[in-house]
Amino acid sequence: MSFPNVSINRLAEKFFREHENVIHRRTDRTFAVLMILQYLAGILAAIFVSPNTWGSHFDGELQIRAAIFLGAIILAPPVTLAIFFPGRRITRHFVAIGQALDSALLIHLCGGRIETHFHIFGSLAFLGFYRDWRVLVSASVVIVFDHYYRGTHWPLSVYGVAIEQPFRWLEHAGWILFEDVFIILATNQSRREMREIALRRAYVEQVAVERGRDIHALEEAKRQLNDALESKDAFMSICGHELKTPLTSLNLQAQIAKRALASENAERETEKIQNLSRKLIEQTESQVKRLLRLVQDLLDHSRIQMGKLPITPETVEVAALLREVIERYREQAETSGSKLLLRIQEGIVAHWDRFRIEQVITNLLSNAIKYGDGKEIEITFSAENDVARISIRDHGIGIATPDHGKIFRQFERLHHHTHIAGLGLGLYISRSIVERHRGQLRFESEKGNGALFWIEIPLRPYEMLTEKIS
Ligand code: ADP
Repeated sequence: MSFPNVSINRLAEKFFREHENVIHRRTDRTFAVLMILQYLAGILAAIFVSPNTWGSHFDGELQIRAAIFLGAIILAPPVTLAIFFPGRRITRHFVAIGQALDSALLIHLCGGRIETHFHIFGSLAFLGFYRDWRVLVSASVVIVFDHYYRGTHWPLSVYGVAIEQPFRWLEHAGWILFEDVFIILATNQSRREMREIALRRAYVEQVAVERGRDIHALEEAKRQLNDALESKDAFMSICGHELKTPLTSLNLQAQIAKRALASENAERETEKIQNLSRKLIEQTESQVKRLLRLVQDLLDHSRIQMGKLPITPETVEVAALLREVIERYREQAETSGSKLLLRIQEGIVAHWDRFRIEQVITNLLSNAIKYGDGKEIEITFSAENDVARISIRDHGIGIATPDHGKIFRQFERLHHHTHIAGLGLGLYISRSIVERHRGQLRFESEKGNGALFWIEIPLRPYEMLTEKIS
């Protein structure tokens, strides 16, 4: 079984390796216990079995020494490795060789009894638990070599007979090979099953991850939809409120004018009527301007939403542009008590959309006046490495850190409960304009400590773009 999906196959390989490692570690631990028991069994065999099987050749001291010392030499390395380094390849091979040598020792201690040879077959079957054919090879090579060597030099120790039989080791090797073939076939079968399990697990896991991703995407879409609905509601309520204020004023001014003109003394009090008319016209003008600004913001908002905010670059003398905007707002600033302090670099020419950049500065400056708490406002401009930096700092109510993420959102007004007017679109539109000029609009602020807003825009953003494209 295999999946065309590369990441599933990679995951399956990981699961397979993990499973294999668990099996190796578990088998190492089992062998550590088994080998300690075999060590003790070897000593018992030297004491109780050896005297009966070795007959006249029995040398008690030699046998007990062999069981104690040779047994320790053979078994100590694999047991140590199995305890301290379980799961390693070298541990498995030390265990296999140790187990084969221990079989040889037990056969020797039991005087080559045929029954003890079954220990070899049991050992190979146990080694099969590793599900690693290479381990069987290590053990089999040692066993066959031992049979050959002792069979020719000390047949009594391995076959229990004194007469040398040159080809008997081949018969044993044949049986070992026979068992190995079966164990290796079973091992391969079981590894195939392990791979299939790993693949299925990887597939299930991948499907779960993908489902999770789908659910996440759905939740995100739902959140965006809710945001859009909330934003629409906010838009309706803010818009209604912001349009109502100037319209109410206009209505009131019309009523006052109407009443004044309808009064009996109207014809006689021409001067009074003229003064009143002048005042009313100024107020009307200011309310109409406010309405126009609101409508302009709404139009810009929908253009940005449609990705159609037009930008028409032209040559702009930055200091002159700033001074023009500042002069327009000086009176309003002074009325609210704010002094405007300027630090402006002269003679810098940029290639920007004049109207749009003016709109950004106007917005930042009018915010500084609105939220500046009547304290002084510093405006700076400098240019370095063909990038202009314009900053506007006020010392007013500031923006609390948790609200920092909100102020560039459309229709977001942090201080909407105050009398200060606004649609909550100014910064949203300003940021879009600055970004269209390949620049950035940033700010720093703390609640109660005023705010510093600054923009950084390349002096010639569109040339940069054409150079890049060409
Ligand atoms: P608005 O039309 O409400 O001024 P903006 O998009 O310009 O909309 O600003 C969004 C919100 O960010 C404002 O409602 C205000 O709460 C906050 N804000 C903007 N500038 C400042 C400032 N200089 N100091 C404190 N708060 C500010």
